[in-house]
Amino acid sequence: MIDKEKIYDAALIIKNSEYIVVFSGAGISTESGIDDFRSPHGLWSRYDPGIYANYQYFLKDPSLFWKMHKEIEDLVDTVEPNQSHLVIAELEKMGKVKAVITQNIDMLHQKAGTGRFGAKIYQLHGEYGKLQCVKCHKEFEYEEIDTKNVDYPVCDCSGYIKPKVILFGESLPHGVLEGAMSECTNADCLIVVGSSLLVSPANFMPSIAKQYGAQIIFINRENTIMDDLADVFLKGSAGEIFAELLKVIKT
Ligand code: NAD
Repeated sequence: MIDKEKIYDAALIIKNSEYIVVFSGAGISTESGIDDFRSPHGLWSRYDPGIYANYQYFLKDPSLFWKMHKEIEDLVDTVEPNQSHLVIAELEKMGKVKAVITQNIDMLHQKAGTGRFGAKIYQLHGEYGKLQCVKCHKEFEYEEIDTKNVDYPVCDCSGYIKPKVILFGESLPHGVLEGAMSECTNADCLIVVGSSLLVSPANFMPSIAKQYGAQIIFINRENTIMDDLADVFLKGSAGEIFAELLKVIKT
């Protein structure tokens, strides 16, 4: 059951805010059919991210990463944004949301229309849509490289080719973290949705925003390690909560 009183509290914060920043994690996309790290029978129970999504393992044997990534590619090509992504895009249209910082690589914020009214998107963990050679750093579009009929793609220079997603052990894309942190300093409200807040440095965002005076709304199915930062914690399904929030904001 959604706590109605807390919905009203959060809706009031949103109504009174002019520079909302959204920080999303894998949990925002579970209702679109992409598992987060916590789903008991999901992708990550078959592919330990510490191995399959680890840069050092990739450099030793890229076939492990590509085995997992081919499943993700098939998913990302077919999934659609859910209520949470759509309401965030609607809040941008209403002039509220100015930036979305996401840990996800699934492009669902973009598919939902985020960015159409000027909001910036910071993809902390890289871009799904592009590939790059880890040796000569040449970039490729997906259409240029056969990723389906090989164990793993290799560049003309003999380097391994990897999507521009960030694996454990890799640095974040240049400038993206700095841009995201700067948005948090400008925010009057930060909405944190679907993240366990266990992955650093992405999980610095709520404390930066708090330090600079933002009000913080958490939307998550379970408690996180940073709950004490939240002004309002809305516990439950993100899609249902965003739908309720929008109803109250529009009344
Ligand atoms: P996480 O898996 O550590 O935590 C997800 C959180 O969302 C959990 O606390 C869970 O209870 C909550 N949750 C799940 N479904 C929810 C729902 N419908 N409504 C509300 N809450 C829900 O995710 P994280 O903090 O983003 O860290 C995982 C890392 O894995 C990130 O680095 C991310 O890049 C990557 N990842 C990305 C995707 C994607 O692109 N969709 C999917 C899996 C993992």
